[in-house]
Amino acid sequence: MQEVKKPRKPLIFYYTIALVILLLFNLLAMPYINAYQVKEVDYGTFMSMTEEQNIGKVEVMDNQIVFTDKAEENIYKTGRMDDPQMVDRLYNSGAEFASEIVEETSPLLTILLYWVLPLVLFIALGQFMYKKLMDKASGGANSMMFNMGKSNAKVYVKSSDGIRFSDVAGVDEAKENLAEIVDYLHNPDKYRQIGASMPKGVLLVGPPGTGKTMLAKAVAGEANVPFFSMSGSEFVEMFVGMGASKVRDLFKQAKEKAPCIVFIDEIDAIGKKRDGQLGSNDEREQTLNQLLTEMDGFEGNSGVIILAATNRPESLDPALTRPGRFDRRVPVELPDLKGREEILKVHARKVKIADDVNFGKVARMASGASGAELANIVNEAALRAVRDGRGFATQADLEESIEVVIAGYQKKNAILTDREKRIVAYHEIGHALVAAKQTNSAPVQKITIVPRTSGALGYTMQVEEGDHYLMSKEEIENKIATYTGGRAAEEVVFGSVTTGASNDIEQATKLARAMISRYGMSEDFDMVAMETVTNQYLGGDTSLACSAETQSKIDQQVIALVKKQHEKALEILRENREKLDELAKFLYEKETITGEEFMHILNA
Ligand code: ADP
Ligand code: ZN
Repeated sequence: MQEVKKPRKPLIFYYTIALVILLLFNLLAMPYINAYQVKEVDYGTFMSMTEEQNIGKVEVMDNQIVFTDKAEENIYKTGRMDDPQMVDRLYNSGAEFASEIVEETSPLLTILLYWVLPLVLFIALGQFMYKKLMDKASGGANSMMFNMGKSNAKVYVKSSDGIRFSDVAGVDEAKENLAEIVDYLHNPDKYRQIGASMPKGVLLVGPPGTGKTMLAKAVAGEANVPFFSMSGSEFVEMFVGMGASKVRDLFKQAKEKAPCIVFIDEIDAIGKKRDGQLGSNDEREQTLNQLLTEMDGFEGNSGVIILAATNRPESLDPALTRPGRFDRRVPVELPDLKGREEILKVHARKVKIADDVNFGKVARMASGASGAELANIVNEAALRAVRDGRGFATQADLEESIEVVIAGYQKKNAILTDREKRIVAYHEIGHALVAAKQTNSAPVQKITIVPRTSGALGYTMQVEEGDHYLMSKEEIENKIATYTGGRAAEEVVFGSVTTGASNDIEQATKLARAMISRYGMSEDFDMVAMETVTNQYLGGDTSLACSAETQSKIDQQVIALVKKQHEKALEILRENREKLDELAKFLYEKETITGEEFMHILNA
């Protein structure tokens, strides 16, 4: 996709132009004006010049006499005296009587030349520079000061050679949904004839990095129409009232270019519920109101389709999502196993990669990764190949890259003390052993105990066997037991505990809490929701919906639940103490253990 941009010139360029014009004006125009400057002399000088026969031309006026010297080099003037013989004397001295030696510079002309002309020049120059700056500002976001109310919408033309649906993988439902819009943009008459109108707005909803922006671009690419894009946060800027005028401007541009796609990223930045609370953001509300007005202002079949993306749909103002506005919602979820494999393949097309790479295996290892992370994994693999001086990326590159993208780079100079390394080894094996004993299957792909730049001292790559959407109560309990397994191993072996379990504790608590307050998995509360999820795509924060007494009951139950699973984990590890030692020793020595090696030792 090619973005049309005017070439930018540095500010100094315009200052130089201004300076040059000023200098030219002074050098050329001023002497010309000065040439007509007339020297004022006293009458005596005039009389003596007459006697010396040194008068060239002379003009006698009512109250002054203007004359030149013989060579006509200078012009003089003097006041007129009561001197009756003057004309005779002049005649005798051979002076030439003339009229209009000097074109009398009228005061008006003087003002024009000295004041108005430079002023006009400066204003013209100022206008020119201002215009240039405005152009410049609408290209770059940083010069807001000159950008009063001008839309930042970038115009993309020739979108056909940009992103297509085939570049976006693993989101088939979303693509199907949007294909209709592409068809409409190609052939609006088909829809008009039957009286159907397209939705004006489509909301793309999903977690960050799942390809929402890409999909919007792909719609424009497939339909071969211009693509206007703007981020919601760009609307809400420094000056009050600018957001609204930017919206106006954006839609004006869009209507001129229809059919076209207008894409508003992060629409929640302007589209949050208007709560009317004190200190709420007036600017945002004005902007939102303007957006609503604009959306109502054009006909459904005008050919302008607005796509908007958000990862917090629940926070949007209901006015935005009502019919006639963003009435179609397209979910763009994290990719499943098949989707991940496809995304990896799409991105692998752009790099040189070994023929025997098993994308399915990589996809399985990268469970939970978003499209953006998968793209990053492929790129990291290529970078690793370059670093090793190879011409293409291999399976090993890809596998290592998963760890890099998810856990950070290996910290080469972070050295664990011997004791720390032993603790970390036991901790990680503790998790894995508890998991393995509960399910009788390989719990992990791989464990490494190399410190990472993310701060993690070890890294466990979980197995994911396909996708499943339901979890039973027992499965969740087992998961909690697995989270406590790391700490349990430290207790069993060292008799003391470390800070290494803080993340495990958080995860275990979250799960236990959800079981009781949201999944109805406790006896006391039956199927009553005590909490609701407020933003499902961003970490899943919850808000309480119960009384303080109930809350303290929930807390007690959460504690009891986690405690029970922690004890279960301790028991499992005590029973399998020998295996625990053996596995931890292996990991301590090799620093890495695969799922197969793990199961091999466990079943030996
Ligand atoms: P979002 O707008 O949902 O946050 P983007 O569309 O900006 O995500 O995606 C960021 C990058 O991640 C894209 O440039 C692309 O490289 C990659 N990506 C994300 N999802 C996909 C996908 N479904 N198929 C291919 N690449 C993807
Ligand atoms: Zn742990």
